[in-house]
Amino acid sequence: AAKGERRGTCRGFEASMDAAAQEKNRLEQDLRAAVREGQLAVHYQPIVDLQTGAVECYEALLRWQHPGRGAVPPDVFVPLAEEMGLIDQIGRFVLASACRAAMGWPEHVKVAVNVSPLQFRNGNLLSTVINALSSSGLPAERLELEITEAVLMEKGPRPAAIIRNLRAFGIGISLDDFGTGYSSLSYLLNYPFTKIKIDKSFILNLQEEPNSRAVIRAVIGLGRSLGLTVAAEGIEREIERDYLRGEGCTQGQGYLFGKAEAATTAHGKETRAA
Ligand code: C2E
Ligand code: MG
Ligand code: MG
Ligand code: MG
Repeated sequence: AAKGERRGTCRGFEASMDAAAQEKNRLEQDLRAAVREGQLAVHYQPIVDLQTGAVECYEALLRWQHPGRGAVPPDVFVPLAEEMGLIDQIGRFVLASACRAAMGWPEHVKVAVNVSPLQFRNGNLLSTVINALSSSGLPAERLELEITEAVLMEKGPRPAAIIRNLRAFGIGISLDDFGTGYSSLSYLLNYPFTKIKIDKSFILNLQEEPNSRAVIRAVIGLGRSLGLTVAAEGIEREIERDYLRGEGCTQGQGYLFGKAEAATTAHGKETRAA
């Protein structure tokens, strides 16, 4: 009986592993189809000047409306796309869409695009970016690329050289999710960043956590003394906005100002506000 039970447990485990593997397999097939059939869309979330409230930038955020499952979050399908080798193709689509969309906005409004570490590995990021700029006509100064520390941890001189080249074209470079990784301060000296984005986990805890406020204040001070723009993501409440504004944070992003929306809607809002 004991042996049978053990086997039963074991079978149960294998069965659930199978189910998970099958589920992942299905999602992968669906993602391939989504890319082929154009189910991926790029939406745009406003980033405002915290002092004036004026929109200065929109962040391009991928959306997948699955025909059966509904919305699948990018935290789920972007890692999958990376694993499947699809992120280059998707990255090209996002860059092209974002540059084209920004051409429809007022000239002072920029567009920020997230770039996966894998896009640095395959050697064609620079040409992809230049292509997106030239075919849309968007000036390089209106494009910002958001990277995380994972990019900087890639071995060798490649990411550093690519980042310097992008910057030399006039493209802005933002360090995204700051405070969640190793946040080595030497990164800030060795790479030509133009912006630091404080991760939303710190903003979420701002009210309850004196330690979150300490980190926020330190990062704002550090960024400003290095001459960088400091942005905070995940601002949902006025009290958070007021605190960050008071501490001298440059830009804010969050549901308080607006969620990501299709380009036409985002543009309509911007022109009404202007
Ligand atoms: P991220 O680059 O840090 O983007 C900010 C995330 O915070 C977005 O989640 C945005 O919707 C969310 N957010 C903004 N304001 C608030 C708020 O007030 N409250 C809360 N709770 N959340 C807020 P989203 O769109 O789900 O994207 C998640 C992550 O997926 C992004 O984090 C980024 O790492 C990745 N991602 C999205 N689009 C792309 C893309 O085109 N390429 C790549 N490589 N990654 C992308
Ligand atoms: Mg980002
Ligand atoms: Mg972020
Ligand atoms: Mg993130």
